[in-house]
Amino acid sequence: MRFLPVFLDLQTGPVLLVGAGDLARAKLRLLAAAGARIRYFATDGNHDVRGLDAADAARVELAHGDPLAADLSGVIAILCAGAGDIGVAMSARAKAVGLPVNVMDDLAHSTFIFPAIVDRGDVVVAVGTGGASPVVARRVRERIEAVLPARIGDLATFIGRWRKSMHDRIPEMALRRRFWERVVDGPIGALVLAGRKDEAEAALKQIPDPTAFAGALESGRAEGRVTLVGAGPGDPDLLTIKALRALQDADVVFYDELVSPEILDRVRRDASRVPVGRRVGKPGIGQDAINKLLIEAAKSGQRVVRLKGGDCFVFGRGGEEVEALREASVAYSIVPGITASLGAAAQFEVPLTFRHEALRITFLTAHKARDAETVDWSTLTDEKMTVVVYMGMTAAPSVRAGLLAAGRSPQTPVGVFARVTRPDAQAAVGTLDRLPELIGKIDGGPAILIIGDVVAHSAPWRESGLNRVISKLLETAA
Ligand code: SAH
Repeated sequence: MRFLPVFLDLQTGPVLLVGAGDLARAKLRLLAAAGARIRYFATDGNHDVRGLDAADAARVELAHGDPLAADLSGVIAILCAGAGDIGVAMSARAKAVGLPVNVMDDLAHSTFIFPAIVDRGDVVVAVGTGGASPVVARRVRERIEAVLPARIGDLATFIGRWRKSMHDRIPEMALRRRFWERVVDGPIGALVLAGRKDEAEAALKQIPDPTAFAGALESGRAEGRVTLVGAGPGDPDLLTIKALRALQDADVVFYDELVSPEILDRVRRDASRVPVGRRVGKPGIGQDAINKLLIEAAKSGQRVVRLKGGDCFVFGRGGEEVEALREASVAYSIVPGITASLGAAAQFEVPLTFRHEALRITFLTAHKARDAETVDWSTLTDEKMTVVVYMGMTAAPSVRAGLLAAGRSPQTPVGVFARVTRPDAQAAVGTLDRLPELIGKIDGGPAILIIGDVVAHSAPWRESGLNRVISKLLETAA
């Protein structure tokens, strides 16, 4: 992000507009619609203000003379549109005195740029692409237009009118935020969005105790709670809608090392983010300490999110956390996430089950070679079972040895799927006897192993032409 979107108060002083033709007129209309006072230098001498209504036109001062020599005192910003070389010279002058300047279609000479705008009264959405592509910005804008309720601006205005008086009645900030969330998300918000403002107003006035409405406990504090959220395997688009909402409502987020930065970007800006995972080469703070942190944060009235890679209940220690929360009488809920194997299955087209071929799935962990040694491999020899191994990179040789010794065929298709759903995802496929070599082809974890005939349906397998190799091998063996 090179340009920070900010909203400029145009009531505070005139804007200097320098330029000519349709380009200048378009900017004139935009500024006028936003209530600006405009000092307009027409570089072609043609002060054409057609299309402005009388009130807007009254705020336009038709300026004469050389804009490069114009008095800039009190001016809040300079805009050049269709101004040619004068725009470049104006930019130098603006920069010299520290005034924000935009030269249309000229990023190098601009210190601010115009976003695409969704304008719903008090709700304004600005979409920028750092000047890279106005077309992309417009497409984004279209999508936002499509999902925003038509009266969303009315809702903001409605709340704006009541904010001050509620501020006095609910002094605590966290509770106040929850009060407004309940208004926005509940029947009162729905009434405003349906255009029934009077009824909404009456309903708001009838709330007997705003702090109770906001969900305050007897102590007067907000009620804290913990939401365990599965963040999925990495691609932020794989967050569920519920997960996104929990991230947007959070006061504090405790996250694991597997959670990608793109997903942390979806967390509410003002929420605190606390890493509690194992860092490379360093141990984590330990499960008991994490449980304690969650409980303390919830008991202090915060909305806590415990964010984990994949799903919380698949090798995520979510079960232990939930038990600790229950014991401490802390309210909690659980939002499922897409576990790594499902991410791999979708991305690399590995159907984990297949009619007649694969009727069972086992999720297994082999964190250390020692874990692998304790597995009863004889339960995993069924040809119609797909075996998914989490945390199995280091223990891959023991996984191979265990399965082969128990009698699973050395020709069983296997795949190593790393960093799935991330931009640098990687896969290596082959047969069980070659599993450790496949691991060697992978440039680092996290990775899962999928073992079973279904891997032969996967995209990397089809691309590798392994089927031909194997049928040749079988022919020779026969
Ligand atoms: N709760 C997680 C699993 C955590 S255990 C889930 O449901 O996915 C950590 C292991 O998960 C890693 O060692 C690796 O085997 C697997 N894993 C997590 N994210 C992964 C990813 N993006 N690609 C491949 N494997 C992943």
